Amino acid sequence: MSASLLQLRGVSRHFQTGHIVQALNDIDLTVEAGEFLLILGPSGSGKSTLLSVIGGLDRPTAGEIALENQPIHSLGENKLAHLRRKKVGFVFQFFNLLSTLSALDNVALPLRMNGVSTAEARAKAKAMLQQVGLGDRLDHYPAELSGGEQQRVAIARALINSPTLLLADEPTGNLDSKNGTMIMELLQRFNREYKQTIITVSHDHAFKSIAHRVLHMRDGYIADIEHLRSKDN
Ligand code: ADP
Ligand code: MG
Repeated sequence: MSASLLQLRGVSRHFQTGHIVQALNDIDLTVEAGEFLLILGPSGSGKSTLLSVIGGLDRPTAGEIALENQPIHSLGENKLAHLRRKKVGFVFQFFNLLSTLSALDNVALPLRMNGVSTAEARAKAKAMLQQVGLGDRLDHYPAELSGGEQQRVAIARALINSPTLLLADEPTGNLDSKNGTMIMELLQRFNREYKQTIITVSHDHAFKSIAHRVLHMRDGYIADIEHLRSKDN
């Protein structure tokens, strides 16, 4: 295999719920380090399933997935969980913050789960929240934050471990356009300044102004791949 960051070969995912749903069908995809990939497609076309198998939240029923040349489709549950914690950051449409933890402790949590001390985890979480413009919201609980602020906390949490790959599923889908633009610009900044590799699913075509490539999904297939701009500019 080449030195690409992520490779999928013949990846399929079928669900058996009475009848068989072919959510993903024979997907081949290569993603380079530093890329910003946008996945567009109608509802039900397999976008979330694709992100889940890439991030090790779900397993393909056929095919191979390698992250930094490490096959992940065949990893046991413990090793897969370890890989997720170390190498993948997730951002979801509905933020998925823990309501009983402050913004600071939400962001510190992934570090704590990797064995970092409370003091060090909090110091790093504070620096990360400052980076996303929430240095004055450290002690706020999710219910005390706007949707846009909650999503910025979620991005800080996803990036706190310096993941190899940031995966975002409709990250602006629950935000108004002003906050959606802010989240988009934040993702673009991490991609440009820190070469953070990002794969985001969206209905929002505004992401085309910042993505390097667009993957168009239809019925579990890649219908088209659009090259928008070079990642090296
Ligand atoms: P998208 O994110 O593009 O809207 P999904 O990846 O969520 O699409 O779903 C793709 C297809 O797989 C849909 O037909 C959906 O109903 C089906 N699907 C997704 N997850 C499951 C599941 N856990 N069990 C059964 N079917 C599923
Ligand atoms: Mg989806």
